[in-house]
This record gives sequence, structure tokens and C-alpha cells, in this order.
Amino acid sequence: MTLRPPTATIRTQVALPLRFADGFATDVRVFSFDGLVDGREHLAFALGDRSAPLSVGGRRAVPLVRPHSECLTGDVFGSQRCDCGAQLREAVERIGDAGGYVLYLRQEGRGIGLYSKLEAYALQEAGVDTYEANLALGHREDERSYVAAAQMLHALGVSEIALLSNNPDKARQLRSCGVTIVEQVPTGVHVSAANIRYLETKARRGDHMLDLSLPA
Ligand SMILES: [Zn+2]
Repeated sequence: MTLRPPTATIRTQVALPLRFADGFATDVRVFSFDGLVDGREHLAFALGDRSAPLSVGGRRAVPLVRPHSECLTGDVFGSQRCDCGAQLREAVERIGDAGGYVLYLRQEGRGIGLYSKLEAYALQEAGVDTYEANLALGHREDERSYVAAAQMLHALGVSEIALLSNNPDKARQLRSCGVTIVEQVPTGVHVSAANIRYLETKARRGDHMLDLSLPA
């Protein structure tokens, strides 16, 4: 069933020059919004040909879009317990080439929050997996909603996207909010000794499309 979410509007848009820890630099346009259903401060980063100011008319190619859930430890501090930082860095470069958006969603720890995520890590050190740990803490396995992401796309005038994600739940939820997924583009797999168990669990329990063969 498709249910178009309440209308959100663009609150601010401003150019932002980015430089990542590895030296990769790019110019983006960042958008904030009014009217997002969960009241959180989600951001859209427009990259490549989408980083020009929004103008009326002139059809452009279907944008490549990655909804990326905030991960303070991975995105900012480079934690190797997950692949979030590597995935964000990859998304910024690939979407810059293709033209599109990173939707930076403030739903840390699959929606359970930063402190709870750290508690889940502590439980994982005792041997339970990432999904079981969330359940043990009284949360659901994955509490993320992509309704606000769909609202942001609608506010940006985007109704059709190529989705950069391995996560079938993102595609399902966005479709149910009236976003047409023209194509689902898999992300790279960023395996390390510290995150291999986490990635195996995502593939098994979250139905993520991951090829976890370690590089030769
Ligand atoms: Zn992470």
C-alpha cells in the first residue's frame, strides 16, 4: 500500500565545501527541512549536478540516493566495529559522480540511540549478535523509519530514484511512501577483521545483499 507522507518543505539550503580524512574533497549543497514527521534534524546533501541551486524546469537524470543512518562512532571517529564510515565516504564519491543525494538520517544505532548502541556493543562482547543485543535491551531489531527520508525527497521534487543500498527494508519503506525506485544499486562491501561478524549478521538477519568473500 502506498501512503504519501505529510508534506515537508525546504527550510534552508546552503553550499558546503567538504574534505574527508583521506583528503577527498567535494562541494555539496546541504538542505534542512520543516515538517519532518519525527521532528529530528535530518539533512539532505546534494552532490554532483544536484549541488546546483534548485531551479524550476529542466529535466535531469534520475538521482542516485543513499539514505544513511547516523553513526557517530563510525562516521566521525572511524570505528571499525561497523562499516558506516566507509559506506558514507563511498556514497559521497559515487553520488558526486552520478548526481544525487545523501540523506543523513539522525537515527543512531538502527534507531535505538547512541548510548543504547554502546550498551548493545557491550552485550556483543559477551557473545550475542547485533540484532539479539537490541532485543535484549528492550528494543526491536531495527527501529529505523524512512518516512522522513521520503518526505525529504518529495520536498526536493524527487519522485524517482536509483537507491544506493543493500538493505531491502529501505526500498520497501520508501516505495510505500510513494517514492519510485527505478534501480537498486548495491554498495561496496567494506570488510575488516573487526566488522566481519557484524556484516555476516546483517546479511543473515537483515537480508542485506552482501558478498562477504574476503579479498584474496
Ligand atoms: Zn556504524
